Amino acid sequence: MILDLKSVFANVGKEVSIDYAFDMSDTDFSGGYPLKTPVSVKGRVFNRAGVVEIELDMNYDFFAPCDRCGVDTVKNYSVKLAKMLATSIEGEDSDTIITVPDMMLDVDELVFTEVFLSLPTKHLCKETCKGYCFECGKNLNEGECNCKSESIDPRLAKLAELIDN
Ligand SMILES: [Zn+2]
Ligand SMILES: [Zn+2]
Repeated sequence: MILDLKSVFANVGKEVSIDYAFDMSDTDFSGGYPLKTPVSVKGRVFNRAGVVEIELDMNYDFFAPCDRCGVDTVKNYSVKLAKMLATSIEGEDSDTIITVPDMMLDVDELVFTEVFLSLPTKHLCKETCKGYCFECGKNLNEGECNCKSESIDPRLAKLAELIDN
C-alpha cells in the first residue's frame, strides 16, 4: 500500500485513515512461517499545524511451536508506531522522523519492518511451561513421568556392574 500524501502535506487539518490487512505469511523467521494470518494495520496520517504525523497500530497472531514443549501455540501481539513525516531532515538523522522526499509513503515497507523487528524471540505456550522429558519425550505439562526415579537407577546399576568386573 503506497499512500500519496501530497494533499496531507498541503492542507493543515487534513487526515487520511489507514485500515487494511497486510499479508506476511511468506515471512521466514527462525526457520518457520509464524505469520499465518494477515497483520491488521490501523492508523492515520494527519497534518497538525503544518506537521505531518503518522500513527499505526499493527496487530498480529504469531503461530509457532512452544520453545519448551513444542506444542503449536498462537499468541497475539501488537506494535505501535508514531512518527513524524518530512520531505527532508534538517540536521542530524532522527529516529522519530520518516523522510518521504516525493510525499509517497510505502506503508507496507513500514509495517513489514516494524512487525519483523517486534517478532518474539521467546515463545512459550505459558510462562510456567515445564517442557518435555528428554528421556521419554513426555510433555511434562500433562503430568510427571517416571524417568527420574526409574531410568537413571538401572543405568547406574549397569555402570556399577562394569566397574565391578
Ligand atoms: Zn510449552
Ligand atoms: Zn520421562
